[in-house]
Amino acid sequence: MDVFSPWQGFHNDPWFWQFPMATLIISMASFLTVATPWTIIAWLDPRSMRKYKIQQKPFEFKKYFWPSIARIIINNVILAGLLVVTWPLLKLTAVHNGELPSWYIIIAQLLFFVFLDDFLYYWMHRYMHENKWLLKHVHSVHHRIRNTCGINGNYMNWLEYVLTAGLTLVGPILLGAHIYVVWIWVVIRQMEGADGHIGYDVPWNPAHLFPVYKGPVYHDFHHAKFKGNYAGFLPYLDEYLGKTHIPAYLRYLKGRKAGLTAQQIEQQEIELRKSQRKRTCRTVSVGKPTHSSAEF
Ligand SMILES: [Zn+2]
Ligand SMILES: [Zn+2]
Repeated sequence: MDVFSPWQGFHNDPWFWQFPMATLIISMASFLTVATPWTIIAWLDPRSMRKYKIQQKPFEFKKYFWPSIARIIINNVILAGLLVVTWPLLKLTAVHNGELPSWYIIIAQLLFFVFLDDFLYYWMHRYMHENKWLLKHVHSVHHRIRNTCGINGNYMNWLEYVLTAGLTLVGPILLGAHIYVVWIWVVIRQMEGADGHIGYDVPWNPAHLFPVYKGPVYHDFHHAKFKGNYAGFLPYLDEYLGKTHIPAYLRYLKGRKAGLTAQQIEQQEIELRKSQRKRTCRTVSVGKPTHSSAEF
């Protein structure tokens, strides 16, 4: 038996181009649509935008711009290769281009994809922080950048990129979704992925129209503080399930609500750290073990 027979003529199959390949192209185009303008803003660093910067220190633009482009190309080539390798399985799934379901079914399916993907992503992401090997060899690549701009959103090890893409397809494969619904979902997912890294907290960000989504601040704190805020879309996972919310993020929200700018909030954080350090020093000087009550 010819082992290559399941792949025979795959490149002449319109479904191969419509399902995995078009989905991959749409996914990348959506990421770049959000990431490109924000990357240009980060590069120009206009004075008028500085009050919206979540972290006051400069972006690591020069150091990571070309490496981000290189990772995007390499990761997508690897993903395209894996989509070819798994094509015999992908074509057996119930994803289809037949009759489009009614609008309320489409909405319900998209909501299901958001919840499922976020749940799976939360655990995968958290595990990548808790497993020493994965953290050192895979996830640490994405964490080299502490103050991200748009294009850095897909700066990651190829294995993390492939796994994240795989999770995105779990929902559509489980439900046997229509290909148009898969495309809408991939657009939402990649726009969220780019938005989480833009580095600016602007009130007119259209992403705020999604009621459950917390905007770029959520993931920005993950890069700045490294531990906590693991979810993509839905903060309930960090808040209730994992108790992995970052305290500094909650203080940021409080400060914004009180009308403070990101710059003023950062100043408050510096003061807080100073007073924490003083308290710790006093505890040491009276001979007691040092335990800092606040996490950053
Ligand atoms: Zn992480
Ligand atoms: Zn990130």
